[in-house]
Amino acid sequence: MNELSTMNYKERFLRYVTFDTRSDEASDSVPSPSGQRIFAQSLVKELEALGLADVSLDDNCYLTATLPANVPEPVPVIGFIAHLDTSPDLSGANVRPRVLTYDGGDVTLNSEEPVVLSPAMFPELLDYTGQEIVVTDGRTLLGADDKAGIAAIISAIDYLKQHPAVKHGKIRIAFTPDEEIGRGADCFDVQAFGCDFAYTVDGGALGELEYENFNAASADIIFKGLNVHPGTAKDKMINASLLALEFVARIPAAERPEHTQDREGFYHLTALSGTVEEASLSYIIRDHSAERFEQRKNLLTTLAADMNRQHPGSVRLELRDQYRNMREVIESNKAIVDLAHQAMTAVGVKPIIKPIRGGTDGARLSFMGLPCPNIFTGGLNFHGRYEFLPIPSLEKSMLTIVKIAELLPAFNFNR
Ligand SMILES: [Zn+2]
Repeated sequence: MNELSTMNYKERFLRYVTFDTRSDEASDSVPSPSGQRIFAQSLVKELEALGLADVSLDDNCYLTATLPANVPEPVPVIGFIAHLDTSPDLSGANVRPRVLTYDGGDVTLNSEEPVVLSPAMFPELLDYTGQEIVVTDGRTLLGADDKAGIAAIISAIDYLKQHPAVKHGKIRIAFTPDEEIGRGADCFDVQAFGCDFAYTVDGGALGELEYENFNAASADIIFKGLNVHPGTAKDKMINASLLALEFVARIPAAERPEHTQDREGFYHLTALSGTVEEASLSYIIRDHSAERFEQRKNLLTTLAADMNRQHPGSVRLELRDQYRNMREVIESNKAIVDLAHQAMTAVGVKPIIKPIRGGTDGARLSFMGLPCPNIFTGGLNFHGRYEFLPIPSLEKSMLTIVKIAELLPAFNFNR
C-alpha cells in the first residue's frame, strides 16, 4: 500500500484540483494543450497502486482500467466515465481549495477583489448549512466539474476492492480529455471499452440523474452586399449589415436563452459582425424535441431562401448538427435509468430527474452504441469562481456508484 491507495474521496478530490487541466478551444491538438496528460499520468500511478487491471493511457489521452468481476456468473459489463479537463471559461491554474463548515451566511472567497459566495445570489447554498463544503479562493474555478466525478469513481472502485463481500460484475472506468470543448467523445473507442452500458459521473447537485439533453446545431449565416458610393446608391446598394439585421428580426424574439427554460428550445445569436460589403451571424440552435429542432433549422433555411429570392446570391447558410438528445437511445434501455434510480434511493438520495439544457459526452456516446445516462457529482456553480462542492454529496456520489455495481448482478432488466 502506498499513500495513493489509502486516500479517501475528499483527499483525492483535493489532490486532483491542484492539476491545471483547462482545455483550450483554439487548439487542434489532442488533447488540447494543458496539464490533462500530466494529470492522467498521475491517475495511472494511482490506479496501478490500487491494483486495477488493464490500466491504459492512449495517445489521445483516454485513460481506461478494469476492476474484474468477483462473481462467476455472467453480469453485464458496466462503465463509469468522467472527464479530465476543466472549463476554458476561467483559469484552473493554482487552484487553492478551501474546506470549511458552511454556517448559512456569506463566505468571503477573496477579500481583495472582493468575491463573496452568498445565499442572496445562490439560495441553494442554504441546503448545505452545517455541511463541510469546498470552495475556491475567488480567483479560479474549483474543478469539481469533473474532478469530483473522478474522485467518486476511483473511491468507489477502491471501496469495492476493500469490501470483497460486495459482489459485482466486471467494471470498466474511463477518464476522457476535452469534454468541455465538445471533443470528449471524438476518439472514444466504444468497442475497446467493451461495456453494455455506462454512466457519466458529470452531473451537478445531489440526486441529479439525467438522460435527456438538447438536440444541438450551429449555424453561420454569411451575407454578401453590394457597395457603391452612398451618394449614387439609389436602387443599387445592398447593405449586407442590414440584411443581417433583417434576418435577426425575423427570428422569434421570445425564443432566446434569456426567455426560455425547462424543455423550451431556443435560437441563440452568439456572434455578429458586418460592413456594407459583408456581414455574418453565428447562431446555436437547441431543442429537446427532435421535431421542433428540425422546425428551427427549417426556419433558418426558409429565411435564407427568402432573402436569396429577393437579392440573388446574397445569403449563404451553413448549418451543422452538433449532438442529439440521448433520450431516444436511453428510452429503449430504460432499465439502466431505473438501476441508477434504485441505487440512489438505496443510499438515501432522492433522485432528481430533469432534462439537461446542454449536452454531455454521454449523449454522443449513446449514439455511438454505448447508452450512457449522467449521474451527479454533488458540485454546484460549475465553470466559475463560485463553484463549490459539498463533501457529503461527493460521498453519496461514490456510494451511488458502489450501489449500482452491487445491485447489477441480481437486477432484472426485463421488468
Ligand atoms: Zn463536466
